[in-house]
Amino acid sequence: MAQARSTRRLRPRGNPSLLSVVIPCFNEEPMVPTLRQRVEQLQATLGVPLEIVLVDDGSADGTLDLLLEWAAASPAVKVVGFSRNFGHQIAVTAGLDHATGDAVVIMDADLQDPPEVIVEMLARYRLGYDVVYGQREARAGESVFKRLSAWLFYRLMRAFVMKELPPDTGDFRLVSRPCLDALLRLRETHRFMRGLGTWVGFPQAAVRYARAGRSAGETKYPLGRMLRFAMTAVLSFSPAPLRLSFLLGVLFTLGGLGYGSWALVRWCLGLHLPGGRTATAVIVLVCLVGGALQLSLGMVGEYVARIFEEVKGRPLYLVSTRANCEPREGGHPGADARHGGGA
Ligand code: UDP
Ligand code: MG
Repeated sequence: MAQARSTRRLRPRGNPSLLSVVIPCFNEEPMVPTLRQRVEQLQATLGVPLEIVLVDDGSADGTLDLLLEWAAASPAVKVVGFSRNFGHQIAVTAGLDHATGDAVVIMDADLQDPPEVIVEMLARYRLGYDVVYGQREARAGESVFKRLSAWLFYRLMRAFVMKELPPDTGDFRLVSRPCLDALLRLRETHRFMRGLGTWVGFPQAAVRYARAGRSAGETKYPLGRMLRFAMTAVLSFSPAPLRLSFLLGVLFTLGGLGYGSWALVRWCLGLHLPGGRTATAVIVLVCLVGGALQLSLGMVGEYVARIFEEVKGRPLYLVSTRANCEPREGGHPGADARHGGGA
């Protein structure tokens, strides 16, 4: 079932002449043989030439050796090995940097994203969609906590940070070359790829699939790492936490002024002041001083938010269609990699 998010007219096209599959791997030794088998199966049946870009994210086990062995047996397999663990999102970025296909699929090594879904993704690609993301229908083999936290995360993100973020989608997706080139121009260090994928726009559609359990090994996203990831998602796309301070300042100041006026009226009418005059004055002063502090902090926050936006250095706009005019930027968009690329 396709869900169009764009009203732009789609231009049907053929299959990509080369499809890159980017797979980040971190301590996936027990997983690699099964992964290789499933990918080779796909290579034999898909009917589109595949290029496999395997990124070893500084694994401490035998993952890299197995990947190199695979590459030695097949020229269509590329391996990028990191010097240390840089994290999932950077590993995906490096894979995308090294992909040369007309379209790219990002996939986890643990086969939780079934490679067979790619067939359906390609059908949407041929319809003209530039991004086809996998939307999870079920999450088998994951703890109730992980399922609940993921459910909550997507709802909160859509409510407060990025209302266009498609719910229940991971990094498993097909991206066309024009959209990928745009995506690769976003070189910020703290990366939330799904958010960046939404930010770049382009016609997008969903393919629903049942998320399988992990085939082997264990999750590399324990609670702490998941929380940090969620923080990156929020902080990279919204200055809302900074604005909270300003709001608190307004509340404190209004509270102080309100309480002060109420006490003043009672005092003028000769009514009893709870706690006496001194206590009332202290309460009012604490509220006003606290409010002033919060307000100025919020003000500083606004400047910090703007600095933050600027230092990200994101392009102001992205062009998706051109006619008879050359792009102004020279070379491959990933060529001037400032962070994480070019390993
Ligand atoms: N991964 C990575 N670097 C990391 C953590 C994870 O390259 O620092 C890879 C991992 O090998 C897997 C994918 O990212 O291919 C997703 O990780 P995982 O399956 O552990 O996450 P989960 O599915 O539990 O959220
Ligand atoms: Mg997984």
